[in-house]
Amino acid sequence: MTRRFDVCVVGSANLDLVATAPELPRPGRTVLGTGFAEHAGGKGLNQAVAAARAGARTAFCGAVGDDDAARRLLHVMDQDGVNRDSVRTVPDVPTGRALIGVSASGENSIIVVPGANACLQPVDVLEAAASAATLLVQREVPDDTVRAALEAARAAGVITILNPAPASAIEQSTLALCDLIVPNEHEVELLGGAERLLAGGATAVIVTLGARGAMLLRQGLEPHLVAPFSVAAIDTTAAGDACCGALAAALSAGVGIPEALRFACAAGALATTRAGAVPSLPARSEIDRLINGAG
Ligand code: ADP
Repeated sequence: MTRRFDVCVVGSANLDLVATAPELPRPGRTVLGTGFAEHAGGKGLNQAVAAARAGARTAFCGAVGDDDAARRLLHVMDQDGVNRDSVRTVPDVPTGRALIGVSASGENSIIVVPGANACLQPVDVLEAAASAATLLVQREVPDDTVRAALEAARAAGVITILNPAPASAIEQSTLALCDLIVPNEHEVELLGGAERLLAGGATAVIVTLGARGAMLLRQGLEPHLVAPFSVAAIDTTAAGDACCGALAAALSAGVGIPEALRFACAAGALATTRAGAVPSLPARSEIDRLINGAG
């Protein structure tokens, strides 16, 4: 069946406000900062941009406030050709924000205000979730909404991918709606292990292992380790998002899971070679070059 999009991402969009200071303030204290920057963020938006740069016709479905932050985020989607017809504007609620303090020693402390992301309702996602070859969801929007998106996608024969981040308990019946589940090491442990996730009905579980690559586990097959691509990593922010977006893009193009995962790991590796989230997400040509260069 020809669908309007290759990948639909249902998830969060945030404006990240990052302040650097010699040290983080203790409660009740004020410190003088040394720098400030604003970046587009949120796992949903990061993964949508990652999929688009990896070559997929991509739609983002999420919620933003009626404010300047929203306009910034919509502009980021436009710049990468991410369709935003299914982004809902919620009045009187702020666009999601992450307030991030970073000390000179590299420690951080973060306040995430979900804002409009928490207002994304099941009814907002049903149509979008069924509009692409592949649906990709995370856990920064309400559980009911994640579930509704997966249900709508499954009913329409869409490939469903869950990146269960941030880590927290999840209903078994939601896991049963996923074709692929892509946790990192911390998340898979919290969810009871890869075997348990597979037993829930997923075709494959992919555990991302940072600088050690990724492990592919499938029903009835031996675990398969995808070796990491050797890169000069300087900032691992959004490596997981790059990996998930690229994986969804490759699967929607009909590539088999092992090959799609290699493509995804190359995208994850490239994202570590540049600072930040959205600015670090690689283009299709860079991913292909790394894969071909690596033989
Ligand atoms: P998360 O950011 O969700 O914790 P990971 O850190 O596991 O995700 O990164 C996702 C993928 O990106 C990994 O599976 C790996 O393929 C790639 N990757 C991450 N860090 C590196 C690194 N330092 N060198 C090479 N590849 C990396």
